[in-house]
Amino acid sequence: MHELSIANSVVEICAEQAHGARVRRVTLEIGQLSAVMPEAIRFCFDVCAKDTVVEGAALEIVEMPGQARCLACGATLDVAVPFGQCACGSENLELISGQQLKIRQMEVG
Ligand SMILES: [Zn+2]
Repeated sequence: MHELSIANSVVEICAEQAHGARVRRVTLEIGQLSAVMPEAIRFCFDVCAKDTVVEGAALEIVEMPGQARCLACGATLDVAVPFGQCACGSENLELISGQQLKIRQMEVG
């Protein structure tokens, strides 16, 4: 399962950066175009965090909307799928947001 390996690496990164301290809270940014299910991440996170310093940490997931820049006119538009068409008619879009999956913040203590 895709989400399980993602959750596992999130837990590993947090545990490594915590340097043995207890992790209280983790905030994850998940792009809406990343094809990752936040609820599946939440479930897998708890499974992966078990018996690590991350166990019991609150997981916050911030879903980031997809955004693309039109290479024809330079406009920025919101996209719900990884392709689309600008108001100017161009389909030459460059995705600038929405595919990311990263740890935004972590609280230890
Ligand atoms: Zn355009």
